[in-house]
Amino acid sequence: MMHLAIVGSGPAGYYTAEAALKQWGAGARVDVFDRLPVPYGLIRTGVAPDHQSIKAVARRYEATALSDEVRFIGNVTVGKDVSIDELMALYDAVVLATGAPQDRPLDIEGAQLANVFGSAAFVGWYNGHPDFAALAPDLSGTHAVIIGMGNVALDVARILAKTEAEFAGSDIVAHALAALGGKGIRRITILGRRGPHQIMMTPKELAELGKLERARPEIQAADLPDAEADAALDPGQRKSVALLREFAAASGSEKPIAIAFDFFASPVRLIGEGGRVTGVDVERNALDGETAVGTGEVRRLPANLVVSCIGYRSSPIDGVAFDARGGRFANDGGLIAPRLYCVGWARRGPSGTIGTNRPDGFGVIERIAAEVVPDAAKPGPAGFDALAGERGIDIVTFRDWRRIEAAEVAAARQGAPREKFVAIEDMIAARGTG
Ligand code: NAP
Repeated sequence: MMHLAIVGSGPAGYYTAEAALKQWGAGARVDVFDRLPVPYGLIRTGVAPDHQSIKAVARRYEATALSDEVRFIGNVTVGKDVSIDELMALYDAVVLATGAPQDRPLDIEGAQLANVFGSAAFVGWYNGHPDFAALAPDLSGTHAVIIGMGNVALDVARILAKTEAEFAGSDIVAHALAALGGKGIRRITILGRRGPHQIMMTPKELAELGKLERARPEIQAADLPDAEADAALDPGQRKSVALLREFAAASGSEKPIAIAFDFFASPVRLIGEGGRVTGVDVERNALDGETAVGTGEVRRLPANLVVSCIGYRSSPIDGVAFDARGGRFANDGGLIAPRLYCVGWARRGPSGTIGTNRPDGFGVIERIAAEVVPDAAKPGPAGFDALAGERGIDIVTFRDWRRIEAAEVAAARQGAPREKFVAIEDMIAARGTG
């Protein structure tokens, strides 16, 4: 019997569990741990609340979670409630699928000012992540600046610009819906340190900016390279740049909120008054090949809110080798140490789509099948249950989660799929006793 512990119940975790079922069927027992009492990681608290079709992939994870060989063990923090060494002693192999929940730090003067947030915090706030539900960003100002030109920047710009009606059918949490709705904000500037050809935004997500009720993308045609140069781009990037060209040509609409793309612009310092951000000093860059080089020319943008969307880092775990520069576990093709593996963003860093994690999960299971010989002396799940019992760890099971989920569905406002609990105590209370 192969006893497997997977740490993290997001896409990487559940695709790995799915792969284990394919590999060993009834010959495996898989425990999927999560520090929250609720599963699905990034699907629940990272994917934008108005992207319900992407969130629907959770149904696939549910099918895996409901199989006899797989258990969900929520409300357990590995590294605190149970150590990696303890898991290694109980299971044949341990796979870290813990994602990249921390913001890459914005390393400039003023980054600590009030109303400056990293995207993990800001996205976590509007998605009801318990760590960030109390963030209370002040959205009453007119100017927001978003740093970075990836899909997360697009999510944040779109969420800031949408009207209340445009959140119909989303599962945006009540506290965020009350604060958003495009009430105060009039200008959302997206800062890119490089040019239109170097954006990290994908076409489907970029196209959504052109369809907003009260907001319009604003792009200076002068920032766009000659059209012939687009031929050298890969097809996806060419589509994205074609959209930028469409947006540039369509400017002049009457919509009151501008989403301005500010290219070749690096933030060098955040300015504040009374401890609160009021502006961003931005240096003009030139491109040397694909690299941004500062020109020394600095201008000041007004900013009442700053959200930096410049990527993420994994959280280290005591006793596990960490690559501090890369912000992920030190690993060789997913192998950290004998019988200890990592997968998804914890392995490769924060890139790719949700689906990228599927081959990742299948790849790590292939390695485990080739490298790990099950040890009959490892107690697996029964051993963990004994340890949890001794320690009085309050485990949340998948059955508990389904009660929590039912309570969230029952509490949904009209047209919404659910109203999430945002406090861990409320999640735990909602599992009831049945
Ligand atoms: P990303 O795609 O890596 O984009 C990060 C952006 O931040 C880049 O434009 C980068 O510019 C910029 N940046 C990095 N460091 C910077 C600095 N110090 N100063 C200024 N700019 C800086 O990351 P992401 O947007 O966080 O997305 C993470 C992953 O999730 C991506 O794979 C993304 O596609 C995926 N995602 C997908 C969806 C979706 O499909 N709907 C939604 C959200 C996220 P340079 O290029 O110059 O480094």
